[in-house]
Amino acid sequence: MESGLLLTVFVLLYDVQVDIVLSLLSGRLVREKVGPAVQSAVQSQISAISAPFTEPSDLFETGGARGLPAHALRRLPAIKVGADTAVDEAGEALCCSVCLQDLEVGESARRLPGCRHVFHAPCIDRWLVRHASCPLCRRDI
Ligand SMILES: [Zn+2]
Ligand SMILES: [Zn+2]
Repeated sequence: MESGLLLTVFVLLYDVQVDIVLSLLSGRLVREKVGPAVQSAVQSQISAISAPFTEPSDLFETGGARGLPAHALRRLPAIKVGADTAVDEAGEALCCSVCLQDLEVGESARRLPGCRHVFHAPCIDRWLVRHASCPLCRRDI
């Protein structure tokens, strides 16, 4: 009789265990079904988050456009270095701070309208394409 009772208990326990296993399996199945959906949701979120990250690099690529636009560059007064413009008020020879060479008489130069610093026209043009400021005093053009 005792062994019969044990068998019944064992069968009952076995049934419970099977139930647990089945519920675990079904739970896992549910999780596996949810898995890819959650993954794709997470991936779409990641791509939504990572998408803006491409924009700053685009901005960085066009960072050269922070220089003076071509039409503004053309409006800058070009001067021919003469005996009077090759020296400053103190009579010192004017030096182009882009190439660090003196401004020679007859050379083409530009005087920046704000600070009145003078540079070789090709030197300052090359500089202003990338920076909208005076290379000497950093004053905005
Ligand atoms: Zn120069
Ligand atoms: Zn200046």
